[in-house]
Amino acid sequence: MAEQLKAIKGMNDILPPESGRWEWLEGVVRQLMRRHGYLNMRTPIVEPTALFVRGLGEVTDIVEKEMYSFEDSLNGDRLTLRPEGTAGAVRAINEHSFLYEGGKRLYYIGPMFRHERPQKGRYRQFHQVGAEVLGFAGPDVDAELILMTAALWRDLGLTIGQDISLQINSLGQPDERQAHRQALIAHLESHLDLLDDEAKRRLYSNPLRILDTKNPAMQSVVEAAPKLIDFLGDASLAHFNAVKDVLDAAGVAYQVNTRLVRGMDYYNLTVFEWVTDKLGAQGTVCGGGRYDGLIEQLGGKPAPAVGWGLGMERLLLLLQELGIEPPSNAPDAFAMAFAGVPLPVVLRTVDALRAQGVSVVLNPAGKDGPASPKSQFKKADASGARFALVFGPDEVAQGQVTVKPLRDGGEQVLRPLADIANWAPSLTASRQS
Ligand code: ATP
Ligand code: MG
Repeated sequence: MAEQLKAIKGMNDILPPESGRWEWLEGVVRQLMRRHGYLNMRTPIVEPTALFVRGLGEVTDIVEKEMYSFEDSLNGDRLTLRPEGTAGAVRAINEHSFLYEGGKRLYYIGPMFRHERPQKGRYRQFHQVGAEVLGFAGPDVDAELILMTAALWRDLGLTIGQDISLQINSLGQPDERQAHRQALIAHLESHLDLLDDEAKRRLYSNPLRILDTKNPAMQSVVEAAPKLIDFLGDASLAHFNAVKDVLDAAGVAYQVNTRLVRGMDYYNLTVFEWVTDKLGAQGTVCGGGRYDGLIEQLGGKPAPAVGWGLGMERLLLLLQELGIEPPSNAPDAFAMAFAGVPLPVVLRTVDALRAQGVSVVLNPAGKDGPASPKSQFKKADASGARFALVFGPDEVAQGQVTVKPLRDGGEQVLRPLADIANWAPSLTASRQS
């Protein structure tokens, strides 16, 4: 036998029944977006490497060590598989002058790529839902974006504060960060002996990111460090308070985490994360914040923006952990034909039922013709369908098909092949979803 090729490490196939959970989540997300007036956008998976270097910042985990970058062998261009969605979204709105007529609310769902060590909740190809609001400066949009994520948790059956919790912070504006940066560097310099190599390397290039360290040996230095929130001016504090007021009024519980900085350089003012303690070290399910400088930084006409990204694998793991399952996607009916029944009659009938919105799985006959009734009924049971449609030679000769309930009990009935619109609704009436 020929050697079998394998998928790339950290990149997963998603097959049934797992793919059914994905489709369900995507459907819930699309309904959520429609309810909030967010429109779908789709951008390429491959972008120029420079987009992420300029957009995310050179001294970030992603740009330093996680990007899949390569040279286009045909023309030598430096390209990167997108590690996140915001930079590409901003490139696209700049390129198409998409804010010309005013602000936009957009969302996307798709794969992202990061060269990390694969483990539960951390993969090299993973999927994000992203929501981006571009062109609006007020705290109302920050608050709406957070409330929207809270609504998603509710739609999915998660309990806020128990299954998933909100942490928020404000990163202020660049001048406030500058003042804090001086104080932070001074603090870290006075504890040089306690810093790990990565922290030493980032001391002058990106000291704020040192606060994000997961190294237990550095926790005491980091805890004693000056807090950015103490350097915020009135306008930044007012923005932060406005967001908190909305959350308070909406009854969405949160914790102010003054050490929350997020991984990308582009954030300012509001940042937030939804975290869970049910997924070990991969506890951040969703994160986002304001990025008012990014549009200009990527060459666009200056405009404010705010957004979030959600890891779909982590959310699905959390739902699974909690035993939350999608409604059944079993078919309404399983159709089986016995020997001697003309195929055109069977296919015409199931086709007419499908046109009426009934989901019908047809049991295929092998090359030797239909299997025995016994084995076909076994398959019907295994399919999860609520009804069997039995095309036996006798009833078909009389222009009829047998409809046999498989799940909820009840008598089997004969239905006319000629009058499908009349009885098709009886097959969908007891759906669970
Ligand atoms: P982490 O600190 O866990 O590495 P991050 O801060 O790098 O996360 P973001 O860039 O904010 O993550 O991406 C948004 C979300 O995408 C994360 O909260 C997480 O749910 C998900 N995510 C990020 N990286 C991965 C990955 N390698 N595999 C699966 N999901 C991921
Ligand atoms: Mg990361």
